[in-house]
Amino acid sequence: MSRPVRVRFAPSPTGPLHIGGVRTALFNYLFAKKNNGVFYLRIEDTDQNRFVPGAEQYIFEALEWLGISPSETVGKNEKFGPYRQSERKHLYKQYADQLIHSGWAYYAFDTPEALDMHRKQHEEQGKTFIYNWHNREKLDTSLVLSIEETNKRIAAGEDFVIRFKTPVNEVLELKDIIRGDIKFDTNLLDDKVLFKSDGMPTYHLANIVDDHLMETSHVIRGEEWLPSLPLHHLLYKAFGWEAPEFAHLPLILKPIGNGKLSKRDGDKMGFPVFPLEWKTEEGISSGYRETGYFPETVINFLALLGWNDGTDQELFSLNELVEKFDLNRVHKAGAKFDPDKNKWFNHQYLQKKSDVELTEIFSSVLTEKGISIENDKLIKIVSSIKERANFVSNFWELSDYFFEAPTSYDEKASKNWKEETPALMKQVIAVLESIDDFTSLNIETILKDWMTTNEIGMGKVMQPLRLSLVGALKGPHLFDIIELIGKEETVKRILKAIEKI
Ligand code: GLU
Repeated sequence: MSRPVRVRFAPSPTGPLHIGGVRTALFNYLFAKKNNGVFYLRIEDTDQNRFVPGAEQYIFEALEWLGISPSETVGKNEKFGPYRQSERKHLYKQYADQLIHSGWAYYAFDTPEALDMHRKQHEEQGKTFIYNWHNREKLDTSLVLSIEETNKRIAAGEDFVIRFKTPVNEVLELKDIIRGDIKFDTNLLDDKVLFKSDGMPTYHLANIVDDHLMETSHVIRGEEWLPSLPLHHLLYKAFGWEAPEFAHLPLILKPIGNGKLSKRDGDKMGFPVFPLEWKTEEGISSGYRETGYFPETVINFLALLGWNDGTDQELFSLNELVEKFDLNRVHKAGAKFDPDKNKWFNHQYLQKKSDVELTEIFSSVLTEKGISIENDKLIKIVSSIKERANFVSNFWELSDYFFEAPTSYDEKASKNWKEETPALMKQVIAVLESIDDFTSLNIETILKDWMTTNEIGMGKVMQPLRLSLVGALKGPHLFDIIELIGKEETVKRILKAIEKI
């Protein structure tokens, strides 16, 4: 009988969560929701040397922003709590002891200096020192001591570690949901440290004990953990516990060149690699949220890093992803990160937002600039420019002329400003001033009628008029602009252009 689905995200709070970690969280979330299971979050902070203040809070905040918060974690439905490994410290020793008693682990007393010496000696002979079956009986371990001797050294306060005793001459045939069958030769594995005399477990022991105690059914994590799979499998076997199923997600690759997308790539190549901004004394690393990406965008592009639904569909809402996500459709080849495509995704989600919602965001930008404008007008402005924007932060550069008269005029466009233009523009002013119903369509009809009646070419009026109002030959429908900036301002700008160009 298959177990109820319980999956976890188990980050170590050693810095801001990288976008690759967010993808791991997302795939776990999707898998849990798809299977009516539980997505929980465990903080793996056994390595106190790498503790970074604020990193834990950052993880929670990022997942909340993206709408994929865990249903159990620190301070929330702590069914199998605590959810912070540093608070579970007292739990692990008994499991390390259990492995010692069953012969699956042993004490090792080698000092760091002794290990260094072994490493050096091997290097001198062109070899690599691996702590395993080759030499574990020649090293300073309990394997060659009597129980009394071992206990005496521990009681005397000697530093020790507990190492896993990897079995010899076995070929492990393991299953990974994404990668299929994988074979591992146990003779090539080293005897990893599970526990240290400072009372702290290492990642491997804590991770397996907790996955077991927290009833984890599937372990979905990044490819960089694949080399740990044989040890983890053996640990389950040693404890006599049912192992979860494993799925190792493909690497996320740099946009250009080779290799894994690193934390440093983003600021180097000009795009965020973090969900939220991260500030330290050394500087600021940009975040998707602060750069103006919508959470929907980030969810969507992350989902497609290693997964697709088998069709050409590219836009998926979170709910749709939950419905369609399938671990069997995750591929094992690395997924290239494409920052330009990510902008395209944001463009798509921006177009889907209502004008009212976008206006609300833009309105705060204007308030900061000390500009106030009627909401109805602003909605119209937003509606006329949003198609050209990838981000709300583009709105200002696309619409500044609605709020401020141009201070300069595009040089190339100014070539269309001929000798007869000022006189023509004065006539345009007269026509505009005669219009009472100052709305786009009406202005357009009246001005065009006037041009036809007087046999004036469209280009002769329209281009200089746009130049006067916008400062360049850009922007939405000219008559919409005229309506929105109003009669008085339109006239003022034409007069200024006559004077300046
Ligand atoms: N603490 C590990 C990490 O930082 C968890 C790896 C796993 O999921 O087993 O990614």
